[in-house]
Amino acid sequence: MNVLIVGNGGREHALAWKIAQSPRAERVFVAPGNAGTAVDAENVDLSATDTAGIVKFAKENNVGLTVVGPEAPLVAGLVDALQAAGLRAFGPSKAAAELEGSKVFCKNLLRNADVPSADYRVFRDAESAQHYLTEREDTPVVVKADGLAAGKGVIVCSNREEALEAVERIAEQKEFGDAGNQLVIEERLVGQEASVLAITDGRTILTLPAAQDHKPAYDGDRGPNTGGMGAYCPTPLVTDKLLASVESDVLVPTVHQMKRNRRPFRGVLYAGLMLTKGGPKVLEYNVRFGDPECQPLLMRLKTDLLEVLDAAVDQRLDEIGELEWDPRPAVCVVMASEGYPGSYEKGHPIRGLEEAAALPDVKVFHAGTSLIDGQVVNVGGRVLGVTAMGESVAKAKLAAYQAVKCIRWQGAWCRKDISDKALGIDS
Ligand code: ATP
Repeated sequence: MNVLIVGNGGREHALAWKIAQSPRAERVFVAPGNAGTAVDAENVDLSATDTAGIVKFAKENNVGLTVVGPEAPLVAGLVDALQAAGLRAFGPSKAAAELEGSKVFCKNLLRNADVPSADYRVFRDAESAQHYLTEREDTPVVVKADGLAAGKGVIVCSNREEALEAVERIAEQKEFGDAGNQLVIEERLVGQEASVLAITDGRTILTLPAAQDHKPAYDGDRGPNTGGMGAYCPTPLVTDKLLASVESDVLVPTVHQMKRNRRPFRGVLYAGLMLTKGGPKVLEYNVRFGDPECQPLLMRLKTDLLEVLDAAVDQRLDEIGELEWDPRPAVCVVMASEGYPGSYEKGHPIRGLEEAAALPDVKVFHAGTSLIDGQVVNVGGRVLGVTAMGESVAKAKLAAYQAVKCIRWQGAWCRKDISDKALGIDS
């Protein structure tokens, strides 16, 4: 079967690398891909948001399955467009992707499904939000723009003053455009964060081992938020018992509620959780694999991913049974361009990739890279996801950073503490 993967990040490189290993995979295309996917698959010069171009390409190239990586094309309805053209696609419909595309939709659904989440209120204008903040007790809140804002539309506030400023930025200055037409003000939760992802066909749910992302730019979770500076899995912060309770109290009621809402959810359901003293609470849902969580997850997956995604599209995920995992933990360290998450310079040649790739149990997933005049150069903020497995989280971490040491380009940097939250509880 020919497979098309849509996107150009580390997540899509991991998907292409894993799917290409399937005995059922014939040609694996990535649109638009990066320098890494050009090696493990074939790049197609089409943007992830070029719906008409992607549909045409899939038709003309006998693509049996399209896997959509990022949220923007899902929320824009790429899966619906492919299906309308008689093509098979893995990922939620536009209606189901609202779960990520609208925080108001998500919060209302969680409340109706009785899924634990922060208390919240929805506002349509700055005035009523400001009035609410002035009247309520001055406890920490989080102010969120309703729509997609590339992870930037969430402002965590310590007091009323900060919250009022956040409302002004979102609802008056329209810093995030139409994404701020509605806003959510919710209780600020305290705890460790973890990501639990599941693959579902709307009937069967296959829950993956829990992972932990590292969103802030610098060590010790300091600095501005990024797309994610590294991830590891499984995280010992989520015990088997806790994972089972997330499945039964979070994922199952969400999938049921989506079905009741006539928006059956098929694809990857990603619960961003806060592990509070009162149990896990949902911070947000994403409707696709996390990037970088996808990289360590897929490195450990032994089951044929193409079989799983193919079965999900046909709603026969119940035939797959348990997924099989390498028991060793995996750690992914993101190497970024100088200046990221602000503006950064592009076009520096990247050296040492082969040296790193030669290390055992290491895979270097590409994100913001491109092949220019035979040279791999940085073209994005997050450039590589250096991923390694080891007998423990600590050993996987060591192996990942050993590989990082082999790789260099002008201004390259990474966090040095990826997976440290597992230390002490790592078995
Ligand atoms: P993403 O880029 O992952 O899609 P997003 O814009 O959807 O991000 P959220 O994941 O909802 O934003 O929030 C981003 C971060 O803000 C969370 O990872 C968490 O650290 C913090 N956060 C969100 N909601 C709360 C809350 N209720 N209490 C405490 N922290 C929160």
